[in-house]
Amino acid sequence: MEINKTWLTGRFNPNERSDFAEIPIELCDEAGHFLHVEALNAWKELQHAAQEDGVQLQIISSTRNFDRQKRIWENKWNGITLTNGENLSMLGLSDLERSQRILKYSAMPGSSRHHWGTDLDINSVEPEYFTTHEGINVYEWMSNNAKQFGFAQPYTSKSMKRRFGYEEEKWHWSFLPLSIRLTAAYPKLINYIDFLGFDGNDTAEAMRVIDHYVLGISKVCLPEDLWPKNV
Ligand SMILES: [Zn+2]
Repeated sequence: MEINKTWLTGRFNPNERSDFAEIPIELCDEAGHFLHVEALNAWKELQHAAQEDGVQLQIISSTRNFDRQKRIWENKWNGITLTNGENLSMLGLSDLERSQRILKYSAMPGSSRHHWGTDLDINSVEPEYFTTHEGINVYEWMSNNAKQFGFAQPYTSKSMKRRFGYEEEKWHWSFLPLSIRLTAAYPKLINYIDFLGFDGNDTAEAMRVIDHYVLGISKVCLPEDLWPKNV
């Protein structure tokens, strides 16, 4: 399928697309996970290689469409789920402050890489897991081997090399041969007027969601013409 607004903003159901497929249950925590078939085929090889090296990987999040991301976002916005232990609806925050706190780890609906079918989360979305013996081994294996299979970590540690965007996510990996094309298309096809249909949508432009979050990723995950200047 051609890269268009519908795909980039997750306004589809992955089970209705012929270029997406359900991930075999033995690779995931539960049934019902989907990936783009190109990403899935590469991931199967990666996961098999990890297993041969004694490293157990499990997909715990994969494709999430707009509606799914809207539920995650609005539950945080309205305090139904806590954000960093706090109910954001009870703190007297401005809309911009609310948005900024959620954006530490969660994407605005329409701007998540999880919409694309190219990105997945493994094992645990708790940073503490990656300080355990098992978590350290998993991350080390991925850091050394994922690129052979086309995968890279978009949300690396925050530094001068990646000044903006989400906090580091050692669990989140992306299938670059496809996701780099979607990343390149995003700022060409999506504008702030496309951020519609969820609580807090009118903070997208002030938060610079496109420049700082969609494109606030590791340099290896960015097309060359979008590399940050002076880094
Ligand atoms: Zn993720």
